[in-house]
Amino acid sequence: MEVWDGEDAVPRDVLLQKVSEIEGLVPAGDRIDAELLNQASRLRVISNFGVGVDNIDISEATRRGIIVGNTPGVLTETTADLAFSLMLAAARRIVEGAEGVKGGRWRNWGPMNLLGVDVHGATLGIIGLGRIGSAVARRGKGFDMKLAYYSRERHTEIENEIGIEFMDLNTLLGECDFLSIHTRLTQETYHLIGEKEFLRMKPNCILVNTSRGAVVDSNALYQALVNHQIAYAALDVTDPEPIPPDHPLLKLDSMLITPHIGSASMATRIKMGSMVAENLFAGLNGEMPPNSVNPEVMLKKTAH
Ligand code: NAP
Repeated sequence: MEVWDGEDAVPRDVLLQKVSEIEGLVPAGDRIDAELLNQASRLRVISNFGVGVDNIDISEATRRGIIVGNTPGVLTETTADLAFSLMLAAARRIVEGAEGVKGGRWRNWGPMNLLGVDVHGATLGIIGLGRIGSAVARRGKGFDMKLAYYSRERHTEIENEIGIEFMDLNTLLGECDFLSIHTRLTQETYHLIGEKEFLRMKPNCILVNTSRGAVVDSNALYQALVNHQIAYAALDVTDPEPIPPDHPLLKLDSMLITPHIGSASMATRIKMGSMVAENLFAGLNGEMPPNSVNPEVMLKKTAH
């Protein structure tokens, strides 16, 4: 077993060279594409440290008979906690206030000091009512928010359980005070929120993205914030990622970015690690991993 424990991601050339020798791989956000898989003649299993597998070319892996595992479910509530924290922090200007206290700018209690907006009673729009999206909606219900969502399909069970209303995307964009994104990143959801979509949103809207950076068009987001088409954006994911320190978005006051820490609680990372190991060892033993995004690879093998 070889472990990359550098602070930065594994350099591409090192990964390209090492991958020719290995049978199992645990990527942590590394790009696993056709170029890399072409070098990986012995590779049988990729056990992704995370639920989102947009870093991996799944059809190329499948074509080569490589099974791919991921970690759904165990990180749902932790990531929903972070999405909701971003909402609250943005609405109540928590980071700005805390930085002011540390910077010695807390002089008095003033009736107009650091006014934010209420979360309770506001309308929360969710894009992608999957595991994390519905966990965020449940938190919104607890805060007495009005709830609406857009997803590819209706989810009537959750609609009935928490009273969330389905809307088409354009209607949702025009209705919500908070918009929280929870789709997977696919060709279809790439830049799902761009220039046209920002024009439909309310000027008081706070955008929260904990899904993948590229679901939002970063240039359009910058323009929307500068032109006050929306009020604020709180992001845990960016495009590019990590966001370079001189990126124009970082110069805006109407912006809060955390460094992709959605699932980063100790308990959840331990559960994810166990799941990664289980998927890896199952794949190496020629068995179906407990969680796989391309189970057809194993089904085909066992059929032969
Ligand atoms: P999930 O249960 O599969 O939910 C994904 C949702 O995306 C599904 O409800 C699906 O809608 C929706 N979707 C897919 N394509 C869509 C489209 N074209 N338009 C609208 N909705 C679409 O996944 P999850 O476990 O909730 O995770 C969601 C994503 O969060 C992951 O893929 C990952 O990228 C991200 N994530 C980030 C962090 C972090 O650290 N920030 C942590 C965990 C996960 P339907 O149900 O209608 O098909």
